[in-house]
Amino acid sequence: MSKVAFIGLGVMGFPMAGHLARAGHDVTVYNRTGAKAEAWVKAHGGASAATPEAAARGAEIVFACVGNDDDLRQVTVGEGGAFHGMSEGAIFVDHTTASAIVARELYAAAQARGISFIDAPVSGGQAGAENGVLTVMAGGDAAAFEKASPVISSFARMVKLLGPSGAGQLTKMVNQICIAGLVEGLAEGLHFARKAGLDAEAVIETISKGAAQSWQMENRYKTMIEERFDFGFAVDWMRKDLAICLEEARRNGAHLPVTALVDQFYSEVQAMGGNRWDTSSLIARLNKA
Ligand code: NAP
Repeated sequence: MSKVAFIGLGVMGFPMAGHLARAGHDVTVYNRTGAKAEAWVKAHGGASAATPEAAARGAEIVFACVGNDDDLRQVTVGEGGAFHGMSEGAIFVDHTTASAIVARELYAAAQARGISFIDAPVSGGQAGAENGVLTVMAGGDAAAFEKASPVISSFARMVKLLGPSGAGQLTKMVNQICIAGLVEGLAEGLHFARKAGLDAEAVIETISKGAAQSWQMENRYKTMIEERFDFGFAVDWMRKDLAICLEEARRNGAHLPVTALVDQFYSEVQAMGGNRWDTSSLIARLNKA
């Protein structure tokens, strides 16, 4: 069992850190809003610290799951950041969805201090975090990954090293690109079914057994028909992720016409007040038109 720290007890981090404690690891948590850290300690035991630096002191592995690139910089190399407290040989595992640029930047900063940095964004949403069945896409050095991987498995069912630093974030970009176009296709299909006067439930029951089947179809069609959008990943988060994808594509020359369009569709959902609606809300803008 390892001595670990977890920084960022949000929708994802709170249950992920909980699985680490349940697996028997010695967990110290840090959260910017102290009340969440107190609630976590009450639920899971362990300890909380006043800064990421204090939480990281003496930990073999330090996990983080915060918002974006700047948040990540703040909790690592910023004042009171975890890197200042970590000992040589320790490993920082970042589960934030961020850019490959910040991953490589922090990998280099970590290396200069004799510590390891693994970018390890996740897929599977709130339910995946709560049930401990996330998919973790990692980038970094194999030796550090081999050490961290069994501990990460406390909250994941798939953990894979995809390449050097940044490869985890690049893989997460592929994940988001695949989801964006697919959700728009599903929204258009359901919208068309309604306009055509079909029974949408019966349509999905039928076509989900064929080539159109997808996770989004299986898990979201009912709530999309009912226009209920409180089932997970928020539009604001998705736009952050798509911005990262589109920026990376400008750098590597990939063509992402559908992803760029869907990003604009999400901006229309935001204009409808849907910032915190989940990503299946693309159907709302079709139904409104
Ligand atoms: P969240 O509920 O908003 O939690 C964000 C966490 O980060 C909170 O603990 C927050 O602290 C902390 N934080 C943010 N900025 C900070 C800063 N500058 N300094 C210190 N702490 C900071 O978000 P989430 O849904 O858990 O998502 C976290 C990350 O996972 C994001 O990158 C997201 O894109 C990614 N992700 C989310 C999902 C999902 O379904 N939710 C799925 C896959 C990936 P406070 O409590 O003080 O605000």
